[in-house]
Parts: sequence; C-alpha cells; structure tokens
Amino acid sequence: MPKREALALSREEMREFGYQVIDQLIDYYDGRAERPVAGELDQAALDAILSEPLPRAGRPWREVLEQFEAQVVAPTNHVDHPRFFAYIPLANNFAGVMADALAAGYNIFNAVWLQGAGAAQVERLTVDWLRQIFDFPPAAGGTFVSGGSMSNLTALAVARQVRLQGDMPGAVAYCSDQIHFAISRGLRILGFQPDQLRVIPSDDCYRLSLPHLREALAQDRDAERRPFCVIATAGTTNTGAVDPLDELADFCQREQLWLHVDGAYGAPAMLTARGQRALEGLQRVDSLALDAHKWLFQPIECGIVLVRERRWLSETFKEQPEYLKDVEQAEDELNFMYQGVQLTRQFRALKLWMSFKVFGLDAISRAIAAGFDNAELAEALLRQAGCWEIVTPAQMAIVTFRYQPTSGDAALANRVTHTLVGRLLEDGFAFASGTQLRDKTVMRICANNPRTTAEDLERTVALMGRLAADLEAEFRDAPALD
Ligand SMILES: *Cc1c(COP(=O)(O)O)cnc(C)c1O
Repeated sequence: MPKREALALSREEMREFGYQVIDQLIDYYDGRAERPVAGELDQAALDAILSEPLPRAGRPWREVLEQFEAQVVAPTNHVDHPRFFAYIPLANNFAGVMADALAAGYNIFNAVWLQGAGAAQVERLTVDWLRQIFDFPPAAGGTFVSGGSMSNLTALAVARQVRLQGDMPGAVAYCSDQIHFAISRGLRILGFQPDQLRVIPSDDCYRLSLPHLREALAQDRDAERRPFCVIATAGTTNTGAVDPLDELADFCQREQLWLHVDGAYGAPAMLTARGQRALEGLQRVDSLALDAHKWLFQPIECGIVLVRERRWLSETFKEQPEYLKDVEQAEDELNFMYQGVQLTRQFRALKLWMSFKVFGLDAISRAIAAGFDNAELAEALLRQAGCWEIVTPAQMAIVTFRYQPTSGDAALANRVTHTLVGRLLEDGFAFASGTQLRDKTVMRICANNPRTTAEDLERTVALMGRLAADLEAEFRDAPALD
C-alpha cells in the first residue's frame, strides 16, 4: 500500500475515485436540462454546513465527494445549463473537460520549451489556428491566459510598452460607455489615472460614436495630451453591439493610434457568416482579447490574447534571470513565460486544441451559429407575446427587452422588468439577467449555448410573461411610494 505520508493512493483507489468522478459528471451532463437552473442560495444555511475546522485527519474520498455534490454543487447556478441566459452563459464541452483533467494529471509545465516542448508546440499551433480564423498576418502571435480580464490586461500592457515605452503621463486611451469594466480596471492596474481613459458616449445602437471620438481626440491634442490607444468592443456584454471596427481601423491608422478590441464575448462569431458581416475590420486591429470559455465552449479559464506582431509580447514581458539561462535554446515565442505575466502556467491550450480536433471546426461553427438562431427565435417569441418592448434586437446572440404594461407607464415597465429578474431566479426554471440601457431597465437573453432548444425558449418566454403579468397586477394594487 502506498503511504499516506507520500500523499499517494493505490491503483485501485485512484481508479475507483476517477470512475466515480466521471460517473458523477456524466449524470450531470445527461440530466442537466431537467434540473433547475438555480441552486438554493441561502448564505446562513451555507455558513452552517460549510464551516468546519481545519481537517487534521483525512476522510474517505467518497464522503468528501458526496459532500461536494450535496453542499457545493447544489447551491450553484449552472452557467452551462441550456436555460441559463444571464450575463454570458458558459457552455463548456466534455472534450475540453477531459483535456483539463489530462493537463492537471500530467501536470505539464507549459512555460519553457525545454520542460514542455510538446505543449509549447500545441499552444503555438492553436494560437496559429486562431490567427488564421481572425485573418491576422503570419507575424502575429498570442498566448493563452486565464480569461477575458487577463487577455485585455495583457494586451493593454503590450500597447503601453510598444506605444509609450512606459512613459505614461499625459497618455490617453478611448473607449465607449458600453465598455466592460475589465478595461478600466486593467488600465488602473497598469498605473493609468482615471482621466487617462476617455469614455465616449455610444450612439443609438450602443456602438462607439466616431464623431464623438474625433471630437475628443481633437480636444486632447489641443490640450497637448498624448492619445495612444482606442479600445473597441466586438460584442458588448449589455447588448452584443459591435463597435464600427473597419472605420475605427481607418481612423486609428490615420491618427497613429493603437487599436485594441475586446472580443471576449463576440469575437468567435467570426466562425459564422453572420458574425463575419458584423465583425468586418476585426482582422486589422493591433491586439485582440478572446475568451474561449464563452463562445468557444471551453471549461472556465481559457482566454487568449492575439497581437499583430508576436515579438511585441516578448518585448513587453521578457526578463532574463540567471537561473533560466539554459532555456534560451528555443525562440522566445516558445518560452511562454516571456509572453505574459505567468511563469508556471497551466496547459490551457490543450482544451481548445482537443475540442477543435474532436468536434472539428465545422461543428464548432454550427454551434456558434445556433446562438444567433436562438436569439432571433427569442426575439420573435417576445414579439409574438405582445407584452414586451424589444429594446435592442437580436445581435451576436443577445436580445434585450422590457415589459410593456397595458397602461404604457414607463416607470411601471422598469419596475416590473427589474423585479422580474429576481422572480425568475426564485422560480428556478430559467434565468435571464437585467441591465440598464439609458433610462430603460431591461432584461437580456444571451442565447449562446448550443444545447438550448426551441422548447426551452418557448417555455421561458411564456413563464416570463406570466410572472410579469402577476407583478403588474401586484404593483397596480400597491403602487411604489416614490
Ligand atoms: C466576460 C467579458 C470580459 C471579462 O472576461 P473574463 O473571462 O470574465 O475575465 C471582458 N470583456 C467582455 C466584453 C466580456 O464579455
């Protein structure tokens, strides 16, 4: 028997433990659509069951797994559930899950070529597939990171290095008011002051407005500030709006500005015809942040940053400590510790590589296209129901809408819509989240999960209609005090 002191399990135990985990996962995958979307979320109850002293002695793994299922999984909202339409759904796939298990099991150190040549090669290849998908030039490169926040931060660090060589006073970046907070936070972490990010009002379709951008740039140049970067979004979290990328690329070229695109949500749509139309110009940007755990169906923690010239990454991140001298045998590009902020790093490229190979690009493209279809169907169902105002039509798999009370009262419309989000969550059958679009409180359906069915959408829209009508009646009987 292996010794407990060596933290080892016997072959038999490993096999049983592993098979049990797989069986549990398969039951989850198989029965997911029949479960409620939402778990029981009661903070006091969770504190009571999930507070325990440091475990001095071990317990049988079976008990620990049971506790995990009952107390950790149960109070979870399932972001990969076919009726989870909130925020950005994270519909992963089983090949990616197995790849994560393999990456953890073999514990592959994918930071220096010398320690993981095969992994480095797979990461380079997978980055190159993405380069081809986004039609970047052959000199482009990229690296895997944890997600969209890190890929935006990494790209902005590169922009700062390449354009400013670290000389930051007076430098200004521009974005629209629909930007993800990862951008403002990223710039703050990089040492920019809040006034070094100029937030430009978006247009009627929630896209970055070029006339306003032009005006802001002229003002800043007159004030002898140093504009260096425009940050556009390819698929905003709120509405799926895509900033005018082609025009922005022209503008940035003329004005000698770096163009970064936050494509964390929408960029994978490039694999579909509708997406290619919406994303025209994306191939011209300097840097692109991607999130494969969103619309490329990977398990959580799979982001990628792509840059137009791969040497920019090592120019930004390379250090040369003496204890790593012997890794210099390979090009910088294969030493991924020089491509971003992590040294020891997980082999994240494996999941995307394995998913591409197991399913093939055609199936992945169809899975992405299903998101467009489903959002369009959701829009049609909402219109048919007659009690919803479509605030932004289906685009990039997102539709936003607001309840339309029979009285036409806008304050009541906002109040019902706002309260409906919580009611839907309590019900548990489906979940959609809310947001604010100017003076309208809206709900969003983000339908990028390819396992969502027409019936899922029909029943969800019907349920929302019933809950909203109940709320309207409640509020009519008990009007708000303000
Ligand atoms: C989700 C998202 C991010 C942040 O990505 P994480 O993977 O959650 O860190 C940034 N930008 C946009 C547009 C997003 O949708």
